[in-house]
Amino acid sequence: MSQTLHGIAVAGGIAIGRVALVRSRRRDVPHYLIDAAGVDAEVLRLRRARQAVEERLQQMRAELPPDMPAEVGAVLDVHLMLLGDEVNARGVERWVRERLYNAEWAIVSYLDEVVQLFDGMRDDYLRERKADMEQIAEHMLRRLQAEEPREPHEGEGAAPEAGALQVLVARDLSPVDTLQFRRGMFAGFVTDVGGKTSHTAIVARNLGIPAVVGTRSASAAAQAGDWLIIDGDAGVVIINPTPAELSEYRFKQRQSRQEAERLAHIKNTPAVTLDGQHITLLANIERPSDAAGAVDMGAVGVGLLRSEFLFMGREGKLPGEDEQYAAYRRAVEGMQGMPVTIRTADIGADKPLDVHAPLRHLNPALGLRAIRWSLAEPEIFLTQVRAILRAAAHGAVQMLIPMLAQLGEVRQTFELISRARAQLDARGVAHGPVRVGAMIEVPAAALMVQQFAQHFDFLSIGTNDLVQYTLAIDRTDEAVAHLYDPLHPAVLRLIADVIAEGWAQGKPVSICGEMAGDAAMTRLLLGMGLRHFSMHPSRLLAVKQEVLAADTEELEDWADAVLASDNPASLLAEG
Ligand code: PEP
Ligand code: MG
Repeated sequence: MSQTLHGIAVAGGIAIGRVALVRSRRRDVPHYLIDAAGVDAEVLRLRRARQAVEERLQQMRAELPPDMPAEVGAVLDVHLMLLGDEVNARGVERWVRERLYNAEWAIVSYLDEVVQLFDGMRDDYLRERKADMEQIAEHMLRRLQAEEPREPHEGEGAAPEAGALQVLVARDLSPVDTLQFRRGMFAGFVTDVGGKTSHTAIVARNLGIPAVVGTRSASAAAQAGDWLIIDGDAGVVIINPTPAELSEYRFKQRQSRQEAERLAHIKNTPAVTLDGQHITLLANIERPSDAAGAVDMGAVGVGLLRSEFLFMGREGKLPGEDEQYAAYRRAVEGMQGMPVTIRTADIGADKPLDVHAPLRHLNPALGLRAIRWSLAEPEIFLTQVRAILRAAAHGAVQMLIPMLAQLGEVRQTFELISRARAQLDARGVAHGPVRVGAMIEVPAAALMVQQFAQHFDFLSIGTNDLVQYTLAIDRTDEAVAHLYDPLHPAVLRLIADVIAEGWAQGKPVSICGEMAGDAAMTRLLLGMGLRHFSMHPSRLLAVKQEVLAADTEELEDWADAVLASDNPASLLAEG
């Protein structure tokens, strides 16, 4: 029997495939599909990790102090026995060989399998072995993750066989997890938790695959291998669809592919409105390698490079100046002379440096995040700024500062930028000019935009956070997702004021939050005076289509009416 779940639509399109399941526990391990040709190498990774853990346990056993209770030695013996058990080893390897799961994912999948068996046992002694298995898995995972960060190989993650597309179902995924996915690895994904503008959703949207989050129960309802349909436009997930449902969605899938092909014709058309206004359509990217996709979609620059993704998931081993410089330079060169806006690290909230670190703060979104973190770690910030300044020697680079709320932060930021420049001069290292912009994403900054704008070359409105902080709605919490409203009159008022102030001071204003990529908002934003939009490349053509059909002069009065309304959504729906 088919089962339908409703969630939050975060990335459009229809995906149909077999379920690859990420169980709820240990979500922080990377999950990706390996290439069939890489199976032996992945099994070797597993075996090496197993051997290293075994050696470590043996050493601990040999070095146990004599006054240690005998039970400790006994536990180590049990762990060594389970680790040496060939049935377990083959059980894990099977997930690699048959499902093409990466080593870490294979371990947690096998663990889930055996834990269920243990749970069903009557014998207390045997039931307790479950904890031992979990601890060994933990050792193995730590060992694997202590390896150099490993990027999946080129071509890795392709669907294992034609017609056997996989859709990923998980309770939750970290943004870094999502970043490990490559195009073609999964046909779509579904999570139990999350909101439309959670970073996991944003990264996934960049993959251009249909996604639904906040379904609450998909990972419990679906079994690995089940057929599943994702309707990323309606936020609907169907587990084990009937033949009639399958053919209905295959039809919809064809239609949406045809629509995408139709849009491809305007890739190289300049984004000019009917009344001759030139609109700048920029791309949001997470990694330098995303630049190629942005160029491909006709972006005229990068409006937001979320540099924090270089810093995350590295077990505390942060990228040094040279590594960052090389990465930023790759992005600059990848954009072929078009400008690249590099945002300094927005670490914190749902983008912690280390997902394994214990959660220390009740409200991380209100904590040491973004520029606050950078100013608290001046050496890390100086290193990043030096790398950005060096990359600017290779093309047009802008630097964007996230989450400013105080003018004191503005002053400190500029002091550090000057210091970084002086450090490069002292070393005789080449660097280039950068224009510096402020993200307006905290209501305090929007309310004081007149003062903020004076210090910067440009402004970029981060509507994802501006909505979150204005309405006090956690952008990652599906329980309040229905209240997360970019059209709330208070939000629109703040956006309008920032755009107007940009015009008044002659400072370009862009929006780089998800709102900029929502084609249903394009006309309103144009009417409000916005001329720079930055979005995930997959949204560029749909937004361009709206731009080409718009007349900004005509839209101004209508936008004023929407702004004055206490129900903007209804006016927007009427057009
Ligand atoms: C935003 O807040 O709108 C934004 C673009 O930044 P991020 O989504 O990375 O917080
Ligand atoms: Mg933000």
